[in-house]
Amino acid sequence: MRAKIILEENELPENFININYYLKKFLGKLPDPPLNPETHKPVGAADLEAIFAKELIKQEATLKEVVGIPEEVRKKMSGYRPTPLFRAGSLEKILDTPAHIYYKYEGASPVGSHKMNTALVQAYYNRKQGIKTLITETGAGQWGSALSLACFYFGLKCLVFMVRISYDQKPYRKTVMNIYGAEVRPSPSATTEYGKLLLKDNKNHAGSLGIAISEALESVVKGREARYSLGSVLNHVLLHQTVIGQEAKKQMEKTGEYPDIIIGCCGGGSNFAGIAFPFLADGLKGERENTKFIAVEPESCPSLTHGAYRYDFGDSAQMTPLLKMKTLGSDFIPSPIHAGGLRYHGVAPQVAFLHEEGLIDSKTYGQPEVFKAAIIFARSEGIIPAPESAHAIKAAIDEAIRARDEGRKKVILFNLSGHGLLDLGGYEGYLAGHLK
Ligand SMILES: *Cc1c(COP(=O)(O)O)cnc(C)c1O
Repeated sequence: MRAKIILEENELPENFININYYLKKFLGKLPDPPLNPETHKPVGAADLEAIFAKELIKQEATLKEVVGIPEEVRKKMSGYRPTPLFRAGSLEKILDTPAHIYYKYEGASPVGSHKMNTALVQAYYNRKQGIKTLITETGAGQWGSALSLACFYFGLKCLVFMVRISYDQKPYRKTVMNIYGAEVRPSPSATTEYGKLLLKDNKNHAGSLGIAISEALESVVKGREARYSLGSVLNHVLLHQTVIGQEAKKQMEKTGEYPDIIIGCCGGGSNFAGIAFPFLADGLKGERENTKFIAVEPESCPSLTHGAYRYDFGDSAQMTPLLKMKTLGSDFIPSPIHAGGLRYHGVAPQVAFLHEEGLIDSKTYGQPEVFKAAIIFARSEGIIPAPESAHAIKAAIDEAIRARDEGRKKVILFNLSGHGLLDLGGYEGYLAGHLK
């Protein structure tokens, strides 16, 4: 049987915690800063103000240990947080493992993923600054759904460029965004210069996250009282996700255990950072040793595992500042796997830095073995995971089997970043045996 470890509403974290503070203080090093592509000097706050809300730019560069969560945001978060932590008793039994497997369930948010956490903060600060519209891109649609709802809560308009292949393959996500009042355009679209350029070459262009980001940015620059919003990769986004790991830490304390292994799937790196950073801070402070952190990627888009550690653009049209990432190249177009949220050419600078420093590990899996793990999980725990999250499940199962083979008890914690109830097309394909 699975067991549920819950927190009271008043145990919702009051702050986000900032990994850069710990890196500077205990490692004496920080990830390299974003650069202006023309001057190759670090970008100043002023360069970014046309694109992002000022408070978020401040958070991007902050070296404070903690950043307070605004009361209005906490109120909205308390509608679904603290999220439950489960001990996967049934899965442990099926695997016949001495390992204890725990998972934090972010599918409990109203849009079904962790992305709601940062969407609320971003919408709040843009509204506070008097911005009227937020423009963004979305891959599989989870980020677009989260931002749509957050904009609705805070009275902002929302425009979403959705990667065309997902727009066609996952029409229900578009409906979700429309329900919350957002406008959704397939990307590449005929509404931007960059989109028109790509469509001229190929009117059936499948699109990519990098392209959709370029279109969103172009629209922000042309728009009035509009700003851009990103669902992963940047420091401030990873910062907002640390509510996940802070809650998980409290919940693990209630079990009397501390994880030996912490796992998250990794697209841009935000849900992995969310679960990992609060525990990593313990390690940097010297309070814990030997905790292993694993970021899990698809074989078809292994930016952290096989990417080059260098400065690269965050988008295809090369409009963003240069970010020091592990990258497959800003023109890389990954194959159209079902885990659309993991199809990004780069990874967050903070996550790339930690990997380079040897503080975290990474791992890749192919699509069929990931879906197989997802089905084992659904048939033991009942929850149908998002294909993205299933990457973390596959790694957790492998670690549990290794613990069994070595005859050692291990405490495994993974982040279940979202549910897969709008990803049934992928499951259908897998069950019918035609998934590559
Ligand atoms: C977007 C998404 C991801 C990947 O993004 P990260 O920034 O790496 O977390 C993973 N899981 C789900 C459910 C998502 O929606």
